[in-house]
Amino acid sequence: MNIAIAGGTGFIGKALSNHLASQGHTIYILTRRPKLSSSSNIRYVLFTPESRPQANFPAFDAVINLAGEPINRRRWTKKQKERIVHSRVSTTQWMIELIKSLPSPPRVFINASAIGIYGTSLTDSFTEESSMIGNDFLAQTVAKWEKEAKQAESLGVRTVMARFGVVLGKNGGALPKIVLPYRFWIGGPIGSGQQWISWIHINDVVRALAYIIDHKQLAGPVNITSPSPVRMGQFGETVARILHRPHWLRVPSAMLRALLGEMSMLVTEGQQVIPKKLMEAGFVFSFPTLEKSLADLLAT
Ligand code: NDP
Repeated sequence: MNIAIAGGTGFIGKALSNHLASQGHTIYILTRRPKLSSSSNIRYVLFTPESRPQANFPAFDAVINLAGEPINRRRWTKKQKERIVHSRVSTTQWMIELIKSLPSPPRVFINASAIGIYGTSLTDSFTEESSMIGNDFLAQTVAKWEKEAKQAESLGVRTVMARFGVVLGKNGGALPKIVLPYRFWIGGPIGSGQQWISWIHINDVVRALAYIIDHKQLAGPVNITSPSPVRMGQFGETVARILHRPHWLRVPSAMLRALLGEMSMLVTEGQQVIPKKLMEAGFVFSFPTLEKSLADLLAT
């Protein structure tokens, strides 16, 4: 298959491109910084979200958009919030224009999304059937992002909003930052420790995305999370146990709020999300439990 991936240079994108290329597919990575070292089945193509698609693209079987300004790069000033929203809306609009310009429509369009759309809760549990959209900045951002992605449906293309949970990997995403204090013997509960963390192992993310490409029944929002979310306190205890370190030094929410501002909600709040559609479609997780995931990712 020919597969286009915007944001294919990022944490999830790199793992996905390598996985799909290893399965024999040809990957076109759409990037703002095209690299020279294209290999036979991974090619880098210039991607300029501010202008219309220029290149003469081949027909793609799948088009995937993972691009967007990282949400934790800097404090959420008004300008940074605009950048976070605009980078997602404009790249998604670009992908829709790309789809329109192709010789034939792709079989599937997968747009990154996030479980932040559900808002945060200590008590509720969310599936794709939950219609609730949170009021906070993240939830509202994701709602705008999904609204743009849905335009592809009117082009007759199967469209999937991949609502990623907290993706755990060795060399990217949240895990190295969570683990660092434990390595220095100062790990402990973050905030109340009661907030939910709906995590997923990076290998299951790439397998789930490949599964979505192949399974026509998966459309609309799809939660990309493990079947066993945990509370932050339990997450920290598991990290400590696997690393043989203590879990003791609490970081109060007020301190994080003072340090990080509104962005502190990324670690002090969360949501319990269940991947109902993936499970009903028969997807089998390689890393269904946190213990197994962390044992794999934290192994030296
Ligand atoms: P990364 O930040 O690692 O990569 C995103 C890619 O987007 C980059 O490689 C870059 O590609 C491109 N990009 C960065 N900034 C901008 C910008 N200002 N405008 C346009 N493009 C930009 O993201 P992840 O791989 O971690 O995540 C992929 C998507 O999934 C993101 O949109 C993220 O918000 C979402 N997500 C991720 C989660 C996670 O745990 N990782 C959780 C929930 C959602 P290049 O420089 O090549 O153009």
